[in-house]
Parts: sequence; structure tokens; C-alpha cells
Amino acid sequence: MTRKRPVVAIDGPAGAGKSTAARLLAGKLGYVRVDTGALYRTVAWLALERGIDLSDTQAVVAVAKELAAPGALRLVPGPTESEVVVFGEGLGSKIRTLQVGSAASLVSQIQGVRDALFAMQRALGAEGGVVLEGRDIGTVIYPDAEVKFFLTASVRVRAERRQRELRERGSEVPLAEVESEVTERDRRDSTRALAPLRKADDAIEVDSSELTLEEVIDQMVAIVREAELKLTKS
Ligand code: C5P
Repeated sequence: MTRKRPVVAIDGPAGAGKSTAARLLAGKLGYVRVDTGALYRTVAWLALERGIDLSDTQAVVAVAKELAAPGALRLVPGPTESEVVVFGEGLGSKIRTLQVGSAASLVSQIQGVRDALFAMQRALGAEGGVVLEGRDIGTVIYPDAEVKFFLTASVRVRAERRQRELRERGSEVPLAEVESEVTERDRRDSTRALAPLRKADDAIEVDSSELTLEEVIDQMVAIVREAELKLTKS
């Protein structure tokens, strides 16, 4: 299918700056931003909320299917993070805790969960003019994305960012704890059998450790603008 505007994929490990980059990039381009991690977080949150044991695969898949049903879940772009609205109720920062992040990385290893969220993610990007951020956007969800970025940063830099985010939400977690959580999540996300975190062959790698946010965004905007031109010419 030819789209009038590109689909932009941003993949990378936890804390690489994907969310901020996706938000600013989408803002500059006038694109819609889709935070796919929020979908996995919501499945994990609802399962925990219902007291479901996360090793009960069937029960977790049932939760994912329920959320994937038309009208059940909406992603509303917020000033910093996407707000998830489930059955009409805004979840706010409930899905942004360290605990829900780890639980999300567990439920995301279940094929039935990934399948349930696949169609939703495809539909959200179908028209183009969208920035999707996650782990497998360029490899599984949109292998045909016009632009693919793989955003990385050193573990230390990523842990410091995560710690700052948590602090801003009123939770003080020691750096060593955040760093070991980030490392463990990376290991799990990269070594899992299903849709592991990896750079697509045609993705552009951007290491944000040594760059300012402005530099990262400027690079990305220039690349997407080029892709837009190519699409209008084709
Ligand atoms: O990006 P965020 O930290 O919100 O993602 C939470 C978890 O959801 C990740 O650690 C990962 O396991 C999972 N995830 C995924 N595929 C995506 C986005 C997130 O498996 N596209």
C-alpha cells in the first residue's frame, strides 16, 4: 500500500529516550505519536489489578484480547506521556511504575498477547503520518516503515534518565536499583524468543548518550523530511 506520509518506527531499549524523541519528533512533524509500550503496560497493569498470576498465560491473553476489542482502549497523546483510557477511565501514571514496567516485559513474552496487540498497532499507523515507538516496530509491526530509527544510550545514561522520571513522579529509587532493573529488562527483551529487541537491518542507529536532545531530534527530522519528499515524488 502506498501511503502519502511516512510511518516512522523508533525502537530501542528502555530509557534510550524513545518517548521524548517520539513526542518531540511527532510534534515537529505534525504526526500522531503511538507509544506501544503503553499497550503492554496496560495489559500488565490490568492483569495485576485483577490478581492474575502472570505465569497464567491463558488468563493474561484473555486480558489482552479484552483490551484489543474495539473501543476498549484509547491512547490519548498527553503533554509528556500518552494517556491510556481503558473502558472510559484514564490510567494516568498507574502504568508508569517500575513494577508495571517489569510486569509488561513479562507479559510481552507471550505470543497471544503480541498477537492481540498486533492488529491494533497496524491500524494506528495505517494512514502514515505517525511515529510509533517500541521494541519491534521496525522488525515485526512495520517492517515496511519508510523510516526506522534504533535509539540507544549507555546503561548508565539510561538508568539516570529513568531515575529522574521516577523522581518527577514522586518516587525516589536508588540508581543501582534502577540500573539493575534496566539491565535485566534489556536482557529479557533482547533474548526472548518472540519479537526480541533488535535493530532492523535497515534501521538508522542513533546513540543519544553524547548528543543533546535537540541534536537527536534535528537529525531525525531531517531524515523524515527526506522520506516525505521521496513519497510525494513516487
Ligand atoms: O517502552 P516501555 O518501557 O513502556 O515498555 C514496557 C515493556 O513492554 C518493555 O520492556 C517490553 O518488554 C514491552 N514492549 C514490547 N514491544 C513493544 C513495546 C514494549 O515488547 N513494541
